[in-house]
Amino acid sequence: MTDIIDQAADTEALWREASQKLRHPAGPTPNGACHFCGETVTEPLRWCDENCRDDWQARQPRSTPR
Ligand SMILES: [Zn+2]
Repeated sequence: MTDIIDQAADTEALWREASQKLRHPAGPTPNGACHFCGETVTEPLRWCDENCRDDWQARQPRSTPR
């Protein structure tokens, strides 16, 4: 009877792992300052917020060749 519960736990672990990878994609190393505006941030943060991250990413050269 626990099969489906075990499956759910496994699936949840997979998703959690995947989301953690998504939260920390390849990019700059945390250095205590926002990589976009230079504002002090708490490590392991690399930007103040989503806006700074998105703006920073928008300025990066495309890593995937067409
Ligand atoms: Zn910032």
